[in-house]
Amino acid sequence: MLEQNKELLPFNTFGLAAKAAHYAVVSSTSDVRAAIQGGIRPIRVLGGGSNILFTQNMEGLLLKNEIMGKEIVRRWPNRVHVRVGGGENWHQFVQWAVENNLGGIENLSLIPGTVGASPIQNIGAYGVEIKDVFVRLRAIDLETGKERVFNQKECAFGYRDSIFKREAKGRYLIKEVVFSLTTQQHRINTSYGDISKTLETLGITTPPTIADISRAVVYIRSIKLPDPQKIGNCGSFFKNPELPAAVLTDIRREYPQAPGYDLPDNRVKIPAGWLIEQCGWKGKRVGNTGCYEKQALVLVNHGGATGSEALQLARDIIASVKARFGVELEPEVNIW
Ligand SMILES: Cc1cc2nc3c(=O)[nH]c(=O)nc-3n(C[C@H](O)[C@H](O)[C@H](O)COP(=O)(O)OP(=O)(O)OC[C@H]3O[C@@H](n4cnc5c(N)ncnc54)[C@H](O)[C@@H]3O)c2cc1C
Repeated sequence: MLEQNKELLPFNTFGLAAKAAHYAVVSSTSDVRAAIQGGIRPIRVLGGGSNILFTQNMEGLLLKNEIMGKEIVRRWPNRVHVRVGGGENWHQFVQWAVENNLGGIENLSLIPGTVGASPIQNIGAYGVEIKDVFVRLRAIDLETGKERVFNQKECAFGYRDSIFKREAKGRYLIKEVVFSLTTQQHRINTSYGDISKTLETLGITTPPTIADISRAVVYIRSIKLPDPQKIGNCGSFFKNPELPAAVLTDIRREYPQAPGYDLPDNRVKIPAGWLIEQCGWKGKRVGNTGCYEKQALVLVNHGGATGSEALQLARDIIASVKARFGVELEPEVNIW
């Protein structure tokens, strides 16, 4: 059913007030086809609203994706293919996988949002990205209503990136995603961040199971990141810049302790949070918005913030990092 002037405050984790001129909840391909038939444009897709900053009211039609379902579609001795509806909650899917001893996404526990949004920016955390378990997805073309399948290569995944953030931006609604998960000999990944240390804290001394990893990741994230239910935020606001190694060498002349991680092709990834912190933003409040006190990469809504206020803060942060380090930060969040 098409609704007009729909308030979007309950549907975004930054807690911003904005209205959609036309709004429809879709739970099947025929719902999508019916909604787009009226010719209202532009069309946008909303999942859990955990990676969007609303800076204005939305013209056109907003489709809230609630296409559900979870099914094992193929089995091998060591792994299965699971098809999941795009409207399913990501973390609930991870929990379901862990409970059913299906491995591969336990490091991605507690990431907010929907399954359908997970390929958009190739969600990642603790050394795993969805491209590592991705098989294919089925999407609906929002102009023609036709379905199209994308395989791994066609999605062109990169760091917080895919074809859906570039050439195919805004063109499709991702209806379902198929993942390849292990049923035994799981590839346990404890190499990243504080996972090993946290397993010790949790008293896990035997080789960890996928359930242990999930528990550890939930534990770390609950301490480090603000809970959107309590303080509005979109997670990491900026991408970690990937730059030629020479840029880090230059920065280390003045800041010998500057962190950086080697990438192929003589490039490095520099944590954006560190750059922002050096510019004095960590924990700083500006009006109703600010930088989270425990992690400078996260912008927060202290209550009553507007999207334009948060956008201005983001622009000021970008300018000060550029002035000090010559590095141009790029938002990870979708600015609408
Ligand atoms: C506390 C917190 C922690 C976070 N941690 C991480 C993290 O560790 N790693 C990480 O990668 N991200 C992280 N994020 C960001 C966010 O959770 C992910 O980007 C998530 O995939 C967004 O899902 P969503 O359903 O909320 O998408 P939305 O915010 O609703 O939409 C995001 C974009 O995807 C598009 N979109 C959504 N669903 C569909 C669909 N079905 N078809 C087509 N387009 C669609 C929207 O149009 C929009 O452009 C975090 C966010 C928060 C608030």
